[in-house]
Parts: sequence; C-alpha cells; structure tokens
Amino acid sequence: MCGIVGYIGISPAKGLLIEGLKRLEYRGYDSAGIAVLGDSGLHIERAVGRVAKLEAKLEHHTAFDGSLGIAHTRWATHGGVTEANCHPHTDDKAGICIVHNGIIENYAAIRTWLEERNHTFKSETDTEVLAALIGELYDGDLEVAVKAALREVTGAYAIAVICENEPDVLVCARKGSPLMVGVGAGEYVVASDPSAIVAHTTRAFALDDYNVVRLTRDSIRTSTIHNKAVTPKVMQLEAELGQIELGTYDHYMQKEIFEQPCALRNTLRGRVDRDEGRIVLGGLLSRAKELVRARKFILTGQGTALHSAMIGEYLFEDLAKVPTEIEYASEFRYRNPIVEEGTVVCAVSQSGETADTLAALDEATDKGALSLGVVNVVGSSIARQTDAGVYLRVGPEIGVASTKAFTGQVTALTMMAIFLGRRRLMSVEQCKQLIAELESIPDKIEQVLQQADQIKAVTEKYIHRENWLFMGRGYNYPIALEGALKLKEISYIHAEGMPAAEMKHGPIALISEGMPAVFIANRGAQYTKVLANIEEVRARGGHVIAVATEGDTEITKVAEDILWVPEVAEPLSPLLTVVPLQLLAYYAAVARGHDVDKPRNLAKSVTVE
Ligand code: GLU
Repeated sequence: MCGIVGYIGISPAKGLLIEGLKRLEYRGYDSAGIAVLGDSGLHIERAVGRVAKLEAKLEHHTAFDGSLGIAHTRWATHGGVTEANCHPHTDDKAGICIVHNGIIENYAAIRTWLEERNHTFKSETDTEVLAALIGELYDGDLEVAVKAALREVTGAYAIAVICENEPDVLVCARKGSPLMVGVGAGEYVVASDPSAIVAHTTRAFALDDYNVVRLTRDSIRTSTIHNKAVTPKVMQLEAELGQIELGTYDHYMQKEIFEQPCALRNTLRGRVDRDEGRIVLGGLLSRAKELVRARKFILTGQGTALHSAMIGEYLFEDLAKVPTEIEYASEFRYRNPIVEEGTVVCAVSQSGETADTLAALDEATDKGALSLGVVNVVGSSIARQTDAGVYLRVGPEIGVASTKAFTGQVTALTMMAIFLGRRRLMSVEQCKQLIAELESIPDKIEQVLQQADQIKAVTEKYIHRENWLFMGRGYNYPIALEGALKLKEISYIHAEGMPAAEMKHGPIALISEGMPAVFIANRGAQYTKVLANIEEVRARGGHVIAVATEGDTEITKVAEDILWVPEVAEPLSPLLTVVPLQLLAYYAAVARGHDVDKPRNLAKSVTVE
C-alpha cells in the first residue's frame, strides 16, 4: 500500500525516483510527490492522481537537479486527497523534508505540543507533524533528530528524510511498514519493495522494526532508534527486471494469469519427489518434528490469502488428518484466541507485509504458538518473523487482484499437507499418486488457458448484469468466494460467493430472470448435490454458468454456458477451477473499460490496519 523511493548517489535523482514510483504504482495510491536536494537547493513537486501527472508537472521545472532525493505515492489515511496533504512534507524551522508510509497514532497530542511551541501546519496529515517534531529536535545532526523523534511516536512508519543543512545525508527508518535498502556502487536506492530497486542493484537488505539507516554517498550506518549498532543482512534479490515488465500483455493481471503454469513449476521445482513419494520443504525441516506432533493448525490471512487458507483447512484435515481452523487475521488478533500447547499458526500473505496478518502473528507468538509463513516476497516481514515457512516462488505479482500468488499459495499448502500427511497417516502410494497429480497441474492449467477466447465470449454475454452468484461445495466452496471476490475487485460488479447448499437459506431470494449464477461443478464427491442446486436456480429463471470437468455430458443438459477444466484428483481441483474465474473477472473488467491493474480504492499490499 503506497510507496517510498529514496536515492543518494552519483546519478541525477529525479528520473530515477520517478521511474521507481512507477514501479510501485501497483501497490495502490491516490497522489504522489518528489523532493530533490542539489546545488540549487531543495525542490519539491506534488500532484493528486497518477505519477504521470507528477511527471508532467516536473517538465515545467528548469532546476530540479541533485543526486539526493525522496519520493512518495500516498494512500491517504489522515487528511483528504489534496495537494496540500501530498508528501513530501517539510517542517517550518530546520529544513527537514520527509516522506512517510503508515500512521503516526499519537500525532494529535504531538501537534498540540508543537503548536504550543509556535509551530504552524500546512496540511492535515500526521506526517507533517512528524516532520515538525524532527525539526523541533534538530540540533545539527539529522540522524540524531530522527531517532529522538521516533522515540516519541507510536504507530507505524517507513520514512525517508533529508535536511537542507545536510546535502549529503539520507536517513531512513521503519516500524511496521516495509522498507528495503538497495546497496549499489557509490549509490543507495531505498524503496518499499524490491521492484523499485532491482533495476539498479540486486544487493539489498530489509530494515527491521525500530532500525534507522544513515546513508551518505560512501557510507552506511544502521542502528536502532536507541543507538544500538545493527549489522544488516545483505541478500541477493531474486526478481529479474524481465519479470516485472509487461512484455506483450495488456495488463499485469493478464500476464500473471497466463504465467501460472510456469510460476507453479517454480513453486514445485526441487520440492517434489514422485518416485519416493516425498515432499522436500527445506523451510520446514528445522521444525518438522514439532509440526508433525502439532495438535492444531490455525491458518490465517485476509482477502484472497484467506481463501487459500480455507482450501488449506480442507487439505490439512483431509490429507494430514490434523485439526485445522481458519480465521481472518484481523479477527484473530483482537479476540484473545486460545493458543494451546501444540498449536501452529500459519500466516498466508503474498507480500508478507499485510498489517493485520503480521499483528495476528505477533499475538500468536506471544501466546506461545509455533509460527509459519506462506509468503511470496523473499525477506518480507512475515518471512523474517516466523519460525519456519514456505516461499511461493511465483515471481513478483504486480496486478492488484491476486492470481498466480493464489495458486502459488494453494500449491504450497498442498505440499505442506502432503509433507505432514506422509509423516502422519498417508502411505507412500497415496503420496506418489497425489504428487504425480500435483506435477500435472501446470500442464492442465495451460489447457484451461487455451480456452481464453471462449471464456471471454461467455463473459461478454453477461457483462451488463450487475449481480452475480458464485457457488461451490467442499474444496470448491472457497473457489466460489474467490471467483466472486475477483469479479468485485476489478469489474465493480456485485458478486456473492457461498457454499452451494447455503443458497436455500436465504440468497435464493435474489435469483431473478437471467441472473448469472456460476457453479463450480467439477466431478467430485458432491457433484450430484451441486447438480441439484443448479436445478434450483434454473427453476427460478437464473442463467447457469458451470465450471465443469471435460467430458461431462450431464452438465451440458443443465448449464447455459460451460467453462471446462481437465480431470484431476479432487483435493487439487481448486488449482484448475479458479483459472476460468480469474479470466472471467479479467475480461469483465476489460469489457467495462476499467483500469484492471489499478482498481479503484484498492491497494496491493495492505500495510495499514
Ligand atoms: N498517514 C500518512 C498520510 O495520510 C501517510 C499515508 C501513506 O502511507 O501513504 O498522509
């Protein structure tokens, strides 16, 4: 959610910062701004709306020189979406200039305190208050003032700060909101995530909570806000630039849907041994004994990640026979949950920075649970804060509506279930069979993708409809939720997902002539029950769109339109049934003329509560 880029080095900062902001656009934002400090002083420009608008405004500036600068995309929390509230913010005294992601919770009290000392404010933001506090405490050393200010604030922040008096210093800090430092030759690029760094360097480290880094062109110093020295762990960033370029696709979401076969081959690579019936998950091995003896798993996340967790619940109970619950992280964290001995809490998150999920993990860890992470972004907060975990390895996901990260999560959870199952009750033969099926998934997704044109045509038939229902049973109940969520997120069509049996308990009242009802009706244990639900919809004039198993002749008699998926073992079917629904949502949004990769009001990684 929102983003920061900072630069200190040898090249002109302006172009580099704007390019970095563009790479962070996918995270979601409502306004943008930039500050550059050079020989001609401090220059600031800000704009409500897209980064392109900021860029256009910059064309009018003759002087915007300098190789030190900070830039920001804002997702407003305090104060409306206005230019006055855009970052960077300056103080009114010491030449401080700051960009900030997050929320300063005690900003009102600090503002009152500063007003008593005759400070004045130009915006409604919490961020300007932090700028003024740093200015108030400034006594010739930016790093010292930043640390002193951060010791006074509560809340969450990633900040990058410069000062007119110190044209060779960039100070950054974090607590709760992500920030990475890219280490180049004679230059440093700071950013909210690796996508704005990899064009310049692949060596980087993530700042930890309460850490402050002071960068000059030829030095770097990291310490805590309490002045304890810290040695950062520099790592090699995996993302290649090619992975974040759009290539021949129109949208990142489209690219990521079509990338799924390749992405999932990467998720599986080196982790499945079909001949031995074994799953090798290096990230779990150090805790394997505790995991096998666990009495209960709690899988948690938000949004799409919660839907994969729901499938995880079915998989863990079905394959590993271990009691498993799922819960929204936002609910788990506040309801004083019972965490007993032998409870494992597993956080699922694409970004690894989801604020609610991180807070749920903290709650679980405080209560003594063993913690696991199923995340995509290497080195992210969840990856670093958990005892063990599994990376998705699906590459950077830029589209706000998650697609390949979802199938990556389900694949990772399937491997975890087999990993546990084999050590508990599953026979070698059972494992071998399931692993063979798992390995066939990427090819089968390719077959589904070949029907993209038909799926597009079906979608366009119903595009004027404002209300849709999605229904499924068993393993495909979470897919009904996910299909509805995808449609809502990017096409703004009202859609509801539910267990098919639930329809009779209320939602059936919604069904009217021609209403599209999507049934996930692949062949499985509850197939005949789903057929009965389909009849109930038909009887009331609804139009049935079925996701069905290739070769099923029965379904052709009851569904208006059919989106086919290949036959596969039932526990793995969600990996196939979700794909046509991703495409359906994508084509619906395109047909309605929406900005698929930047849906209104949404952010890619939700780093505030
Ligand atoms: N709380 C700050 C504001 O509303 C920062 C928001 C953000 O993270 O972009 O300006």
